[in-house]
Amino acid sequence: MKIRKNDTVLVIAGKDKGKKGKVRFAYPEKQQVLVEGVNFVKKHSRARGAVKQAGIIDLEVPIPVSNVILLCDKCNKPGRVGFEKLEDGRRVRVCRSCHEVID
Ligand SMILES: [Zn+2]
Repeated sequence: MKIRKNDTVLVIAGKDKGKKGKVRFAYPEKQQVLVEGVNFVKKHSRARGAVKQAGIIDLEVPIPVSNVILLCDKCNKPGRVGFEKLEDGRRVRVCRSCHEVID
């Protein structure tokens, strides 16, 4: 996946279109990401133990990775991300707008 944990992404589809957030978790096997502040759903919960409160809680739910694009930290543009191979053989992500290495 091009999107990884701690990336800043822009939501381009779905009900949270236009929101920006940080990726809290990436699920490569499901092609999903959990983005901070994005895709809240209300869940009814019962009090369980001392910690959980009864009532309605907001829960972030992972969204398909195809619904987000990576925002470049350097130029702050949502952009195409490419892969480039460094001299030492490492593959890094590169912003196509400003050509900065993202990794
Ligand atoms: Zn950039």
